[in-house]
Amino acid sequence: MTEHCNAIVASAPGGPEVLVLAHVPMPVPGAGELLVKVAAVGVNFIESYQRQGIYPVPFPFTPGAEAAGTVVAVGSGVHGFAVGDRIATAEGSACYAEFAIVPALKALHVPAGVPLDVAAALPLQGMTAHYLMNSTYRVEPGQSVLLHAGAGGVGLLLTQLLKEREARVITTVSTEEKEELSRVAGADEVLGYENFAEQVRELTDGDGVDVVFDGVGKDTFDGSLASLRTRGTLVLFGGASGQVPPFDLQRLNAGGSLTVVRPKLADYLRNPQERSWRATEVFNAAASGHLSARIGARFPLAEAGAAHAALQGRRTTGKVILEP
Ligand code: NDP
Repeated sequence: MTEHCNAIVASAPGGPEVLVLAHVPMPVPGAGELLVKVAAVGVNFIESYQRQGIYPVPFPFTPGAEAAGTVVAVGSGVHGFAVGDRIATAEGSACYAEFAIVPALKALHVPAGVPLDVAAALPLQGMTAHYLMNSTYRVEPGQSVLLHAGAGGVGLLLTQLLKEREARVITTVSTEEKEELSRVAGADEVLGYENFAEQVRELTDGDGVDVVFDGVGKDTFDGSLASLRTRGTLVLFGGASGQVPPFDLQRLNAGGSLTVVRPKLADYLRNPQERSWRATEVFNAAASGHLSARIGARFPLAEAGAAHAALQGRRTTGKVILEP
């Protein structure tokens, strides 16, 4: 095996241009770890926050929590994985690389029939969609949901799962192409962002929706609150347009005894049983054709900066992956 491999390294926080391909020492798996030859890397919005220094990380920094590939070496004390296994993870680190270390506890077996690029497109956004609608707010059949960025990575997956649950799904998107994709995923109504709260009221006979899933954040937060029914819940799960500034809790009272929750995936993968439940349901849905991951863009590993620029520039749909 070679002693070096290629990886993306950012030496300091900054724009997409700080993501540079570098020659780094080949990682060596320690106890409980797998060395994985990466076939595809899932790009996620969080890596843009980390790259910019919005979420603090130590620099030099190699981003990447999500990837799929083949196990090429196994550390001591690993059970259940062997060289040659196809695995994926949503909880790796430094996955923007040809080879990555994945803790065996956080590795997921990829079912036969699921290609590795699809396996890299599913775990993080798929398990996010799963916990948002099952655990942060349990959506029941017949309930109405507003979901922002309906053609995004989380958006397309969550729409499909919500329709399986027989919820009514209203999405927002910024372009006609995204509108079409959101409809194909199953959205009942697709809106633009302008005056979306008013339109949601009209569509719900003045009542508002039961729950809003909002990953856009700063630009949509006020409208999301205004879209809720009495005792509705706003699940604020991201800030693609920027982080929501502090706000007056009395607004929840005035809005009709509203709830706001700000969840993150790690808190919903607290033990092996919870991880296995979510991963199994997501991968089984994909393997059986009930859930389809749309890979909207593929970039060579060396062009990770261009991938970030496209994601932050709202030019992507579905999943963005890097291919080493
Ligand atoms: P997306 O593929 O959804 O991309 C972001 C989308 O947000 C864009 O395509 C765009 O869609 C919309 N958007 C609206 N306003 C802006 C803006 N000003 N700048 C950029 N994008 C904007 O990304 P992901 O699916 O990876 O993530 C979606 C959100 O979910 C992110 O906020 C992310 O941080 C969050 N997330 C949270 C997790 C958690 O556990 N809390 C886990 C995973 C993701 P359009 O053009 O249609 O408006």
